[in-house]
Amino acid sequence: MLSVFKKLSWFFKEQWLRYLLAVTALIIASIIDVLPPKIVGMTIDEIQYQQLTPERLTEILLFYGMLIIGGYAIMFYWDYTLFGGAILLEKKIRTKLMRHFLKMTPAFYGRNRTGDLMARATNDLKAIMMTAGFGILTLVDSTIFMMLIIGVMVFTINWKLTLAALIPLPIMAVLMNKYGKAIHKRFTKAQSAFSDLNNDVLESIKGVRVIRAFVQEKQDQRRFGEKTEDVFQKNVDVAKMDALFEPTIKILVGLAYTIGLGYGSYLVARNEITLGELVSFNVYLGMLIWPMFAAGELINVMQRGNASLDRVYKIFSQKPDVKDPDLPKEVKLPEVIEYKNVSFRYPESDNWVIQHVNLNIHRGETIGIVGKTGAGKTTLFRQLLREYPAPEKGEIQINGVPIQELSLDQTRSWIGYVPQEHILFSKTVRENLLFGCGPKSDEEIKQVLDSASLTKDIENLPEGLDTVVGESGVTLSGGQKQRVSLARALLMDPEILILDDALSAVDGKTEAKIISHLKQERKGKTTLIAAHRLSAVEHADQILVFENGIVVEHGTHEELMKKNGWYKTQYDIQKMEGGGE
Ligand code: ADP
Repeated sequence: MLSVFKKLSWFFKEQWLRYLLAVTALIIASIIDVLPPKIVGMTIDEIQYQQLTPERLTEILLFYGMLIIGGYAIMFYWDYTLFGGAILLEKKIRTKLMRHFLKMTPAFYGRNRTGDLMARATNDLKAIMMTAGFGILTLVDSTIFMMLIIGVMVFTINWKLTLAALIPLPIMAVLMNKYGKAIHKRFTKAQSAFSDLNNDVLESIKGVRVIRAFVQEKQDQRRFGEKTEDVFQKNVDVAKMDALFEPTIKILVGLAYTIGLGYGSYLVARNEITLGELVSFNVYLGMLIWPMFAAGELINVMQRGNASLDRVYKIFSQKPDVKDPDLPKEVKLPEVIEYKNVSFRYPESDNWVIQHVNLNIHRGETIGIVGKTGAGKTTLFRQLLREYPAPEKGEIQINGVPIQELSLDQTRSWIGYVPQEHILFSKTVRENLLFGCGPKSDEEIKQVLDSASLTKDIENLPEGLDTVVGESGVTLSGGQKQRVSLARALLMDPEILILDDALSAVDGKTEAKIISHLKQERKGKTTLIAAHRLSAVEHADQILVFENGIVVEHGTHEELMKKNGWYKTQYDIQKMEGGGE
């Protein structure tokens, strides 16, 4: 049962001094706590035997006062030190968790649902924090403090009386164990119901437009209602057990009191203990409630902490599937990027998504990739971005070095990626633009806005570049978002720019303008463009036509036009439809 402390031992070892001081302070506080009842008993006896002089009373009161002040200081100290440690642990695990999340590839996010990950980063972390703070407190109080009180009762009052009054104790231990197990079971269920709810809420919020468009609000609400009810019920189950716990302990404590008072009075009558000692004894019995309760709480906190810690460690045990090599090779500039007979399939899938792709890209070239949706264009780029493990067959090389022998940071630092699904943060346009690069002058930003045909759009925003977009600000249109996303990549001025169908929501004319800007600005640097409109890749040095993951045509615009294949057919259709768009 103490395994949760073992699992957290790395933290306790690291913070050993803090915990040593906190536990020492707790023990001193316990000693200070057991003194007053003794003093009260002594004073009563002195009154009874008429020995109490005014000087003696002053002495007792002064000592009592000192105990109160000392107790105050020491209580502040252990509270601050112990719970400070718990907060520190929460921060540490949270940082580790975030770092882990950032290292993970899309495969991980496919396996784990966002709501569940969030529940682990919030609820579970709180439960772990409780273990490191409240858990230690209850551990000390239910062992050392309890033994101290019992020791004082046995050695300074009467061992027979103590033994009799504590008969209910073993019964309590058995019950606590039983309750602990039941609570653990119910708590785990409640936690996973909460994860479920979290997921649902996230999906509903993300998909709110679709929900409205399909008039599914009522159904969604009903589903949400059911889930909330489920979480509610499961938490009520936990609360029920919790609620049963305390009164059970109270009954057993009451039993102890009855024995203590009855048998104690008998012992006073037989002159085996004094009246003062009987009073002290009963105060001690009362003081035992907390440590016994703490023992129960300890089981509780540890069960919860353990369940939560396991859930969090499960995340840590999922290693990133794309890792840096132990000794990364250095490549200064990507002069040649080569796909050598590359075939790839996604993990957990048997179908080859791209097959036997051969492509040689020299620095400064523009490559156009076209083909139907689902043909494998994005997958080709993802290989370069190293979002997935190296392809099973074939190899991607940069300057002749296999890409998996280069560090992830180096490869990714060359690339500016504009994905199909633009992602903007709910910050100002300026912050979104500067996201990937350091500070830039207004002049540079202006130029990039021009290249991305954004200047007019930005002028029309209420606060220009400083307008907040997204959640709490102005919402941009799909095409505008795509262009902001493009401008962000351009501002980085990357060695390799990848536009993955990045202009799909932009009209033909604007696209043509952007492409002509790109032609000028990307001179000498590598640009990869996947597009639906063939006009966007017409100027490329090489064009690849993908069909079901296979390159079916490969060449320049002129060469492909001569071939009379898919490219020419599409080109003619688009020419007719768009009137040269
Ligand atoms: P394109 O960019 O040309 O539209 P993609 O490269 O996105 O095509 O997709 C190619 C194929 O790979 C599609 O059939 C798609 O269903 C499949 N695919 C994409 N992502 C995954 C994934 N994470 N797991 C399994 N299959 C995937």
